[in-house]
Amino acid sequence: MARKMVMKTKITRRDLLNGIVIGAGGFLLPAYGTESAARSWSSVSPEALAEYYPPTLTGMRGSHVGSFEVAHALAWQGQKPDSYKSLNEHYDLVVVGGGMSGLAAAWYYRKKTDPAARILILDNHDDFGGHAKRNEFHYKGRMLLSLGGAQNLDNPSNYGDVAGSLLIDLGIDEAAIAQMAANTPDDYVLGGKLGGDVGMTVPDGEEHLTIGGHWLKFFHGRGDYRAAVRKLPIPENQKDKLVAFFGGEKDFLDDLSLTKKWDYVNNNSYNQFLLDRVGLSIDTIPILDAHLLILNGPSGWNHTVLEGILVGSPGLRALGWLADFVDSIAARLIDDLAGEIRMFPDGNASVARLLVQKMIPGVAPGMKGIEDVAVTRFDYSALDQSDQSVRVRLNSTAVGVKEVGDYVKVDYVQQGKPLSIAASHCVLACYNNLIPDLCPEMSEAQKNGLSYGVRVPFVYANVLLDNGQAFGRLGVTFTHCPYDPFQWVSAAPTMASGGYEPPRGPDDPMVVFMMASPTPADGTKGTTRDLLRMGRHKIYASTFDDYEQQIRNQLQRMLGRYGFDHEADIKAITVNRIPHGYAYWYQGLDDPEWEEGQAPHEIGRQQFGRISIANTDSEVTPYMNAAFDAAHRAVEEQLQ
Ligand SMILES: Cc1cc2nc3c(=O)[nH]c(=O)nc-3n(C[C@H](O)[C@H](O)[C@H](O)COP(=O)(O)OP(=O)(O)OC[C@H]3O[C@@H](n4cnc5c(N)ncnc54)[C@H](O)[C@@H]3O)c2cc1C
Repeated sequence: MARKMVMKTKITRRDLLNGIVIGAGGFLLPAYGTESAARSWSSVSPEALAEYYPPTLTGMRGSHVGSFEVAHALAWQGQKPDSYKSLNEHYDLVVVGGGMSGLAAAWYYRKKTDPAARILILDNHDDFGGHAKRNEFHYKGRMLLSLGGAQNLDNPSNYGDVAGSLLIDLGIDEAAIAQMAANTPDDYVLGGKLGGDVGMTVPDGEEHLTIGGHWLKFFHGRGDYRAAVRKLPIPENQKDKLVAFFGGEKDFLDDLSLTKKWDYVNNNSYNQFLLDRVGLSIDTIPILDAHLLILNGPSGWNHTVLEGILVGSPGLRALGWLADFVDSIAARLIDDLAGEIRMFPDGNASVARLLVQKMIPGVAPGMKGIEDVAVTRFDYSALDQSDQSVRVRLNSTAVGVKEVGDYVKVDYVQQGKPLSIAASHCVLACYNNLIPDLCPEMSEAQKNGLSYGVRVPFVYANVLLDNGQAFGRLGVTFTHCPYDPFQWVSAAPTMASGGYEPPRGPDDPMVVFMMASPTPADGTKGTTRDLLRMGRHKIYASTFDDYEQQIRNQLQRMLGRYGFDHEADIKAITVNRIPHGYAYWYQGLDDPEWEEGQAPHEIGRQQFGRISIANTDSEVTPYMNAAFDAAHRAVEEQLQ
């Protein structure tokens, strides 16, 4: 079989469906370019607006052109319009941010007050859901789904009363979770089937070699880890060290007393431990680092040894007396995860869609619920109608939120127009970092608290392939690619939840789901927050063409040996860049232990009159249940 190999993958044919809307009916619109996406949407006719359906947009998504410019002008240059046209709209509640926390705030407010309460949700993107975004492709008569951000949900019984009850209201109860498990193929690791194989894909000459088996088990000395490690194209002495480390053949901290060991694992970086104690070389460390990079964002240079191990990095069995302690905690964590992680084919976007449809039934009048949420097309023109109690207004960036007498004035910019509305209450479910610019009247202490954390950047790409033949020959649905720009690669969701019919055979078109952490992992010095900022800047400095080149290179090297031809086989690429991703959580190497109530997020999230603060930043926890809990707290504050 002729193999297609190139150092820098050439792109000779530009027949990708990038930067256009692929509507079910084949309707096309420009999505970005010299004009912002927001402006291009605003210039279309009412008939065309019926085709407004952002999930099918390809090209650069996530923080797309048109979504961030207004906020950046405010945050970086202190610039915003001088005057605003008042719309004479008064709401009971205005929510800034249409992510899971903002949508949940609207939900809790209605529930606690009146289903007819008038609520407006503003979001700067052209789609709702925040990180919970849906990517949808139509090709060869099939719909193919994937996710542009938040992936998994948990059993409502693990969520706490407030967040769990919201899931149950949406129909996601214990029975539904069990059904989602049954709908998920046993080899689909990202969907919670952790028994499925996890590969390791490494450069081997000009091509990449994928070594199958279950590397998450091999990391912990389970299965035939020796044979797997021996296949790695790395120096023999490095293989010996990995085998000894995975198998726990010695205690790598055996010269330290118990107390000093405890200090060591809490005060040294995981990667420094690998380098100094395990004897791995700088070139070998990435093999272990890909796990932390995608799970958490920062690399092993910014995690303590204990933090790294507690989220599943290798080393459980190589710490002597600590091993039993850590092993017991980690085993419990892994059991919990395996039993409860669940996923819709578009990730948590289905949860956002369920919430929106319950509050604004007109977006999908015939939708039943979780049984058809994945396959229902939403009518976005129904989101912001004056005759409904809840409205979602997209492409709208809040730039000023101020209490004026007995109401809150909210200034925002929608498609270049400065507009203003009023509300009795306001919940800020946007990023903490922007709030000081929205509310300059806050105290310096509160502004400092809000400015402290830095969100964790990511890039998630989805690549539509003509068929799944080459990918199927990899032998795994999910693999680590430690030396590539996208460090985790998986088949897009293959579960049948929400009414979805995933690809079933190698001849069907498929979507490859690729995940990248742009945070420096090469030992660059700095606090985690410094490095997260660098990662964010890298995202903004990278063009769609940069990502396309990386994706083609990586997939060609991985799959070329199985007959893949990137020029013929790749049919569309969607790059979801997420410069403001996971909420920041405190890092053992950088952050002090604050007294109760004195941590920056606790000072930052205090109620500010008629304004309360939700979002996951306010909980320093990057999970959907935290988004719900924060929303509930903010609503309770306003209704006291
Ligand atoms: C790549 C990735 C994967 C994840 N995977 C999971 C997972 O598997 N499970 C899980 O539980 N959690 C996951 N999360 C965490 C996720 O962040 C939370 O679950 C939750 O979705 C966060 O919701 P939020 O509303 O707090 O924030 P966001 O989703 O960030 O929503 C905030 C919204 O406010 C908007 N906004 C900001 N400023 C303004 C303004 N001035 N005007 C108008 N709008 C504004 C933002 O653009 C955004 O749309 C993941 C996150 C990321 C980034």
